[in-house]
Amino acid sequence: MSLHDPRAASALDLLAPTPEHALLADTLREFVAREVEPQAGVHDREERFNHALFQSAGQLGLLGVTIPEEYGGAGLDAVAAVQVCEALSTADPGFGLSVLAHAILFAHNVSVNGSELQRKHVLPRAVTGEWIGGLCMTEPEVGTDVLSLRTTARRDGDVYRLNGCKTFITNGGLEDGSTGDCFIVYAATAPGVISSFLVEKGMPGFRLGQKWTDKLGMRASFTAELVFEDVPVPVAQRMGEEGEGTLHMMRNLEIERLTLAAMSLGIAQRCLQVMVDYASQRQAFGKPIREFGQIQRHVTESFAEWRAARTFVYDVARRMDVRGKGQRLDADATKLFASQMAKRAADAAIQVLGGYGYMGEYVVERLWRDAKLIEIGGGTLEAHHKNLMKELARHPQVLR
Ligand SMILES: Cc1cc2nc3c(=O)[nH]c(=O)nc-3n(C[C@H](O)[C@H](O)[C@H](O)COP(=O)(O)OP(=O)(O)OC[C@H]3O[C@@H](n4cnc5c(N)ncnc54)[C@H](O)[C@@H]3O)c2cc1C
Repeated sequence: MSLHDPRAASALDLLAPTPEHALLADTLREFVAREVEPQAGVHDREERFNHALFQSAGQLGLLGVTIPEEYGGAGLDAVAAVQVCEALSTADPGFGLSVLAHAILFAHNVSVNGSELQRKHVLPRAVTGEWIGGLCMTEPEVGTDVLSLRTTARRDGDVYRLNGCKTFITNGGLEDGSTGDCFIVYAATAPGVISSFLVEKGMPGFRLGQKWTDKLGMRASFTAELVFEDVPVPVAQRMGEEGEGTLHMMRNLEIERLTLAAMSLGIAQRCLQVMVDYASQRQAFGKPIREFGQIQRHVTESFAEWRAARTFVYDVARRMDVRGKGQRLDADATKLFASQMAKRAADAAIQVLGGYGYMGEYVVERLWRDAKLIEIGGGTLEAHHKNLMKELARHPQVLR
C-alpha cells in the first residue's frame, strides 16, 4: 500500500501506528495491571515514592522510549512517550508523574540538548533506572515568569559556582533523605542569560531542602526543594553554550506538555471505566442508574470529550519532531484542553458514584485530586492562554 493510497489513511491506528507501538502498548497493559495498579492506593495514602517500581519500569525499557538506541533507549517517538504516560496514569498518575519528570524533563532533555560526553555519561544510567533524575526550573519566588529566575552560576576557573534554591522538584529526593541522582538546573550565568547545568548527587553544597508533604494529589511522587550553596559545577557539565538554557527550556516544554496531556487522557479513561461499570450495577428507583438522563449526561459528555482529547493528543504526537522546536501552539493546546477535560471527567465520576465516589476505595477521588495538578505543573492554564494567543497572532495560517 503506498502512502497515497486512500486505504493507508483508514488503516492507520493513531494509538499504535507501528508494530513497535503495538508491542509497547501490550507491555504497558501487562505492567500496569500486574505491578502499578496493586500499589497505587497505598503509595498515595502514605505519600511514598515507589523506587523499586521505578527500577522495574527501567528494566522493561519504559524509561527510555525516546532515547536513541545507542544509549540504551528504544529510539521511538512522541507517540511512544504519550503511550507510556497515558497508560501509567490509568492506574497511578503520581507514579506516572515521576516517570515523566525523569524520562522527559530530564533524560530526553539531555538526549536532545547535551553533548556526546554528557549523553554517554547520563543516558545509560537514566534509561535503566539506575539513576533517577529531574529538572530544576521553578524557584520559591519564580514560576511562570521563569526567565526572571534568581539562581546564579558564576564562572570561577574550571567550575561554575551555583547558588540558589529550586522548589516543587519532582524526584528531588528519595525516601532515605538523599537527593535524586542527577538534575538539569537552569541558572543565570549573567543577568538575563540562562544556561543549563548537570548537577549530580553528592556535589559539595548540593542538598535536599524540605520534602513537600500533604500535597492535594500526585502524592506518590516525591516533590522537594533543592538547595545549591556555592556548588562547584565543572564547566564540562554545562549543557550547550552559555545562554542556551532558554532554548533548552522552551524546546523541552513542548514534549513535556504533550506528555502531561497524555497523563490527563489516562486519568479520564479510568474515570470512564469506573463510571460506566458503576452506572450499570447501581440500582435506584428500581432500575440501573444508567437509565437516568442526568447520569447519561455525565458519562457521555465525558466520553465524547475524552475521545476528542485522545485524537488530538495522538495526532499532535504523530506530527511532533521530538528533537525539534517551534511546536508550542499544538503542545500547549493539548495540555490546555486535556487537563480540563480530565478534571471534568473525574468530577463527573465522583458525581455518578455518589457517596462511594467520595471514598478512597473507589479510586476516582484520587484521580480527581491528581487531575488538578495538570492545570498547574509544566505551565498553568493561564500560561497556555498567553502562549497560544501569541502563537495564533504570529501564525494566522494555522486557521486557514
Ligand atoms: C506536584 C508538582 C510538581 C512539580 N514538578 C516540577 C518539576 O519537576 N520541576 C520544576 O521546575 N517545577 C515543577 N513544578 C512547578 C510548576 O511547574 C509551577 O508550580 C508552575 O509552573 C506555576 O508556577 P508557580 O507555582 O510559581 O505559580 P505562579 O507562576 O506564581 O502563578 C500564580 C498564578 O498567577 C498566574 N500567572 C502568572 N503569570 C501570569 C500571566 N502572565 N498572566 C496570567 N496569569 C499569570 C498563574 O497562572 C497562577 O494562576 C511542580 C509543581 C507541582 C505542584
